[in-house]
Amino acid sequence: MHFSNDDALAYMKHVKVNDRRYRWPTRPVIAVCIDGSHPGYVEQAVAAGAAPFLARVLEEGAFLEAEGVVPTFTNPNNLSIVTGTPPAVHGICGNYFFDRESGEEVMMNDPRYLRAPTILKAFHDAGAGVAVVTAKDKLRLLLCDGLDFRSDGALGFSAEKADEATLAGNGIENVPDLVGMEVPPVYSAELSEFVLAAAVRLMETRRPDVTYLSTTDYIQHKHAPGTPVANAFYAMMDGYFDRLDRLGCTVALTADHGMNAKHGAGGEPNVIYLQDLLDGWYGIGEVRVILPITDPYVVHHGALGSYATIYLDSERLAGAMTRLAAVDGVGEVLTREDACARFELPPDRVGDIVVLSEQDVTLGSGVAKHDLSGLSEPLRSHGGLFEQKVPFILNRPVTGLDPAKRLRNFSLFDVALNHVE
Ligand code: ZN
Ligand code: ZN
Repeated sequence: MHFSNDDALAYMKHVKVNDRRYRWPTRPVIAVCIDGSHPGYVEQAVAAGAAPFLARVLEEGAFLEAEGVVPTFTNPNNLSIVTGTPPAVHGICGNYFFDRESGEEVMMNDPRYLRAPTILKAFHDAGAGVAVVTAKDKLRLLLCDGLDFRSDGALGFSAEKADEATLAGNGIENVPDLVGMEVPPVYSAELSEFVLAAAVRLMETRRPDVTYLSTTDYIQHKHAPGTPVANAFYAMMDGYFDRLDRLGCTVALTADHGMNAKHGAGGEPNVIYLQDLLDGWYGIGEVRVILPITDPYVVHHGALGSYATIYLDSERLAGAMTRLAAVDGVGEVLTREDACARFELPPDRVGDIVVLSEQDVTLGSGVAKHDLSGLSEPLRSHGGLFEQKVPFILNRPVTGLDPAKRLRNFSLFDVALNHVE
């Protein structure tokens, strides 16, 4: 292999963050979290001939599978990917949690809950050009934490609020003009398209060194792998990945989590209403059930996922665990200690008990608390163990990965920067 002087210098320059070293990119790196991309979506789109670029990557690049973080929700996994760490390190273990200190149930989308710097910030601090584009606005502040938008080198915005982006707040303005698209509705496939179209335009105009993109799982919540709508969605993405590849980028794709059907034969959602159940056992107001999937965008899943955490009196712990484990559809019931050890979670942000449901079952709070009127299709959702497997795809061959080591979605930047020639 021949290295020019510049290549050798680039090879030597590293950024170190959260105990991992990342090689300085020799070409722009685009890391994409395809939200809710269960294994099978890409493969089926390729098999249907809908994704010619990914078909080529299947032959010539790296087409692997990795494991995400449990709970298999959006925020914990996105933060794992951009920090290269599990939630025990970065602190974000749900979209929503019970803050024991304040005694309040709060959204975890404020950067003050983030306990580790991002890889994006580390590259930005070292002088790299960094860009962050998310579909929904809920992730933007966390992903952009530490980026200085007053400098030339960083920008970050959501498709959802692209028309509100300012130089001071986002490092970029007039985004819809740049992209050539109107801001799409928040519940749409076009919201994800906007993200990818923006990445292409940014690459054509500013060519950031490191870019992170995060789409929405609106389509995956409604359409199974291989269905016409799902294939059309992946065909759309395929076209943009192809353009980014042609622009000379390393394109690295993974997902935050997978997605499974969570309904019965008649299309009715399979739900265990945990709060109602525990209220019945112990009385109202005695036990608190937290569903960390909860966020402002619940129309397409009704805040029903396969993971819940429960706060209760310590005398009730053992009894409640035994009773919960006997409930039909409950997969596993773990103590905080066991759950945090197994899933690498921050103990101070997890309840006394963690419940995971079986593959086709979700965990709810109380019947009255879930608005399922927005579910236009039979429920598909995530959060549990059965949505941990995700694709891990690079448009170029990778070398030096230890096959004995469990590949995680949060090694995306490591592989894209350290293992691609
Ligand atoms: Zn997600
Ligand atoms: Zn989702």
